Amino acid sequence: MNSKQINYFKTIVDPKNICTTKEELLVYEYDATLLKGAPEVIVFPETTGQVSLILAYAYQENIPVTTRGAGTNLSGGTIPDQGGIALVLTKMNKVLEIDFENRVVVVEPGTINQELQDMLTPHGYYYPPDPASMKACTIGGNVGECSGGPRCLKYGVTRDYILGMEMVLSTGEVVAIGSKQQVNPDPLDIVKFMVGSEGTLGVFTKLFLKIKKISEAKKTMLCTFNSVKDASRTVANIVREGIVPTTLELMDNLLINCAEDFIGLGLDRTADALLLIEVDGLKEELDGQVEVIKKVCEKNNVKGFKIAQSAKEVDQLWTARRTVIGAVARKRPSYSMQDVTVPRNKLPDIVEEIVNISEKYNLPIGVLAHAGDGNLHPLVLFDERNQEEVEKVHEAEFLICKKALSLGGTLSGEHGIGLLKKPFLDQEFAPEVLSLKRQIMLAFDSGNILNPDKILEVGK
Ligand SMILES: Cc1cc2nc3c(=O)[nH]c(=O)nc-3n(C[C@H](O)[C@H](O)[C@H](O)COP(=O)(O)OP(=O)(O)OC[C@H]3O[C@@H](n4cnc5c(N)ncnc54)[C@H](O)[C@@H]3O)c2cc1C
Repeated sequence: MNSKQINYFKTIVDPKNICTTKEELLVYEYDATLLKGAPEVIVFPETTGQVSLILAYAYQENIPVTTRGAGTNLSGGTIPDQGGIALVLTKMNKVLEIDFENRVVVVEPGTINQELQDMLTPHGYYYPPDPASMKACTIGGNVGECSGGPRCLKYGVTRDYILGMEMVLSTGEVVAIGSKQQVNPDPLDIVKFMVGSEGTLGVFTKLFLKIKKISEAKKTMLCTFNSVKDASRTVANIVREGIVPTTLELMDNLLINCAEDFIGLGLDRTADALLLIEVDGLKEELDGQVEVIKKVCEKNNVKGFKIAQSAKEVDQLWTARRTVIGAVARKRPSYSMQDVTVPRNKLPDIVEEIVNISEKYNLPIGVLAHAGDGNLHPLVLFDERNQEEVEKVHEAEFLICKKALSLGGTLSGEHGIGLLKKPFLDQEFAPEVLSLKRQIMLAFDSGNILNPDKILEVGK
């Protein structure tokens, strides 16, 4: 980009919302992966009109645009690897409306997930998608990735909670689709289609989301096992009994110990795995569900079965789960988090393969999973400064993806494809499917300026 082009953006947004120094650009080279790529200018729009003018100019000048929320994605989705503009939506962060009668909220894309939850909780409501990064990530990013979280086993993912949006196309055209309407048999539902588009089809500037009433009661259980296989078998067995818990999370021994080193809650360090299980609903139905879950755990040789007795205990257990990703930093300086899914009854098979891969490459791999969904996040621990180890990480992760696909799974459960999984995409999708996806991307963004060549090599 030349200085004339960069200066043009100063005529659209307040100059304080433009960053161009080397140090500022450095900060936007990253997301939550190890990938890097610097933008040439960072622009923080404050209105839909500004987003529209920015995109219209970028389209005319053929400038790549990488749309960004909080940059917590784990797929390289906000790496500006082709330079151009980092379009950061964090200043468009207002909750525009909370409508309890229609159970809908209207938000700007930069709204932080946790801040929305904090506004709803005092009224007895919540927004179900709950990525573990919810204290930092934005709703725009959640929609961009179709994010899930522990609760999505029972309550579904972002796609299930979006009713409408305002978005700006690559040409600068502003489009509004859907609104508060709860039932909408739209034959080619573009709103749902935009969810998970990873910044390649348009830029969301306003989002209409469904909210829910907080359940009357919940019970949280901590179950430990002497073998990860027993723990993972328990997962499918619980669902087979007709119970769909709100959450069914798995952590292996390595991660239990990382969490203990970090916050010391008295978790059983000798357990090979733990399941954190929560059920919610009407008070009177929960005891029966807990009883069934306990029986299933016992059939699978449970080591310890404990029901949290207070809100404080529940909170502590969830703190252990939510902070474990950061806690691994004490073990090795770098981690790479995978995101594959398998049918839930195949969990024991993939876990076995991960153990084999860990031994083969002599790399510690912690298994963390939204196990109820069969969605695994193996955490490969290594040292980024050791190139030989980095190579081994790539090979190990490739084998994990390959195994997941061979078990009938998918390459991504919730973190998206971005740049990270792009090289593997042809392992999951047939050429004709990839061709259809490419045509769709070009139909929305004929100039291929929006997150160009992320997910797929598109060309023009
Ligand atoms: C510790 C940790 C835990 C995590 N746990 C979970 C989890 O439990 N579940 C889960 O699903 N993910 C999880 N993630 C991944 C990540 O937090 C989610 O993908 C999140 O939704 C990204 O939000 P963000 O605001 O950071 O978006 P970004 O990373 O900034 O962007 C994500 C994608 O959305 C696009 N995008 C952003 N804003 C817009 C917009 N306004 N219009 C169009 N496209 C846009 C971007 O181009 C990019 O492709 C975790 C990440 C970390 C670091």
